[in-house]
Amino acid sequence: MAEGSVPSLLPPPVAGMALADGSGSDEVDVAIVGGGINGTGAARDFALRGLRVALFERNDLAFGASGNSSGMIHGGVRYLSRSPHVTETSCRDSGYIQRIAPHLLFRIPFLMPLRSGPAARVALELVDAYFRAYDDFQPLKRGEPHCRLDPTDLARLEPGLVGALAGGVSFDEWGVDGVRLCVLNALDAIEHGARVYPHTSVESVARSVRGDERSRYVVDARDRLDGTSVRIRARAIVNATGAWAPVTAGLIGVPQARVRVRPGKGIHVVLDRRIANFGILSEAIDGRQIFLEPWQNVSVLGTTDDDYYGDLDEVHATSEEVRYLVQGVARVFPSVRLARAIGTYAGVRPTLYEYGRNEDALSRNHRIVDHGADGAPMVYSMIGGKLASYRLFAQELCDLVAPRDFGVNVPCSTHTRPLPGAERVPDAVETAATYGITPVAARRLVYRHGGRALRILERAARRPSELDVTCICEPVLEAEVRHVVREELARTVDDVARRTRLGLGPCGGMRCAARCGQIVAQERERSPAEGRLMAREFIHRQGLARAVALGPQQARQEALTFAHLDASLGRSS
Ligand SMILES: Cc1cc2nc3c(=O)[nH]c(=O)nc-3n(C[C@H](O)[C@H](O)[C@H](O)COP(=O)(O)OP(=O)(O)OC[C@H]3O[C@@H](n4cnc5c(N)ncnc54)[C@H](O)[C@@H]3O)c2cc1C
Repeated sequence: MAEGSVPSLLPPPVAGMALADGSGSDEVDVAIVGGGINGTGAARDFALRGLRVALFERNDLAFGASGNSSGMIHGGVRYLSRSPHVTETSCRDSGYIQRIAPHLLFRIPFLMPLRSGPAARVALELVDAYFRAYDDFQPLKRGEPHCRLDPTDLARLEPGLVGALAGGVSFDEWGVDGVRLCVLNALDAIEHGARVYPHTSVESVARSVRGDERSRYVVDARDRLDGTSVRIRARAIVNATGAWAPVTAGLIGVPQARVRVRPGKGIHVVLDRRIANFGILSEAIDGRQIFLEPWQNVSVLGTTDDDYYGDLDEVHATSEEVRYLVQGVARVFPSVRLARAIGTYAGVRPTLYEYGRNEDALSRNHRIVDHGADGAPMVYSMIGGKLASYRLFAQELCDLVAPRDFGVNVPCSTHTRPLPGAERVPDAVETAATYGITPVAARRLVYRHGGRALRILERAARRPSELDVTCICEPVLEAEVRHVVREELARTVDDVARRTRLGLGPCGGMRCAARCGQIVAQERERSPAEGRLMAREFIHRQGLARAVALGPQQARQEALTFAHLDASLGRSS
């Protein structure tokens, strides 16, 4: 496409038009489309280098793959044979992410049991050798080297393992709350001058008719909750919309074929508690590797990887996918069948496009597409990647764009500067004693907010009713709900749940969504009826996500409770 052929879809922009945020200025250096980990990571990096940034997210921050991943800041042991570069960069970036957000990462030691059989001894030797190679990368992410285990070791470490086992190995990985990682990147970007617009969908990007370098592009976006429009002029555009990237390319007017991804759907099943001390690898019926993972205060079964052709805004697990995972994990750890499933979640990987390969074999590498070659100077797309290497991906983009397009030579600092709350992480037990809350509430609060937990508790100390526990399962204090609405851009009960895990535990929001809706409505000066509506929508969504993982008896019981709660919330609105 020739220079200047990017379509000008808009009437001439209104001079000096005020922004929805009331800032008065409608010009930024970089407009980023997409509030997943790649968009928020890039926003932070650009903002730290002193560039003016606006970030638009069509849904909530982390709504896409970033908030629905397996939450591993790992090296990807299975990529080692095909893409050692991906393993190396992910391990290296994992080390940096541990340094900038120590409170948010937690260790997940894994076991890989091998079943007895004619070739078991050889298989064990090969696995042992493979993990010896992986050990070389472990120091990059502060991981322990693997251990070779005999059947007695395995039985001692995880008595729930069954079957005739030939032995196995242990290896070390790190988990993270992907939503919080996105939110912290967005917050830091804001604290360095960026504007972030969640629930605001970019509807068009057109070449400015001003012909002025400083406002080359006009971005028009609409707030999907209240319908207000936002218009911004930007010198550069970044398409960081993951699996949506080709759709966004269409809005920008660059060829969709240049940002082709192979969308891969993955689902997870959540069990109501930690049922194992280790993550456990298993094989699904088709030989794919799947796992059971202790993750925060629950257990998670994951994950599938299937080509996806459906609606990216409506990605749900099906009961067939749930059965596939349960069957595969139960083969080595049958008590997953006895545990209570409390939910499912699903996301779509924005994997780099390749034809003719099995989903599992696709590269997890990332790529920056410079659309200058498509006649759209200073327009870039971020394609592919992993949560575990997001920081490096953002750095690569900013290292390219900041000096070349803006003459800014400030070096990257995202690997050394702590994310908000990580500057000083308080001791949870001391925090509990100082503020009179339970140690478990303090531990969860400090996990999510690091040093900012003290800010939340200081406020609550002045209004003691805010120390009430709103969500018992997690637990989440009323003060934290208010905090994420005020300080972290949460606007609905779903948004609060994403940031705090309120309602994502065993009760599925039945006990806390209504109160949360009330608090969100108060904070946002909305009517109580709006608060109830938000709560109802949240409970509905949770119910639907859970339904596919329930047995018939549990489903019947839930239907009754659900109808009752739904009717009472509906009646009172
Ligand atoms: C099931 C699963 C498991 C995974 N497990 C891991 C793991 O354990 N470790 C790991 O490192 N990686 C993992 N990944 C990969 C990782 O999650 C993704 O590579 C990464 O999150 C992609 O981030 P992103 O920002 O590019 O995309 P996304 O997180 O999908 O963000 C794109 C955003 O763009 C927004 N958007 C779309 N259109 C518009 C528009 N017009 N205007 C404004 N906003 C728009 C969307 O709402 C969305 O929030 C997993 C992925 C999946 C699906």
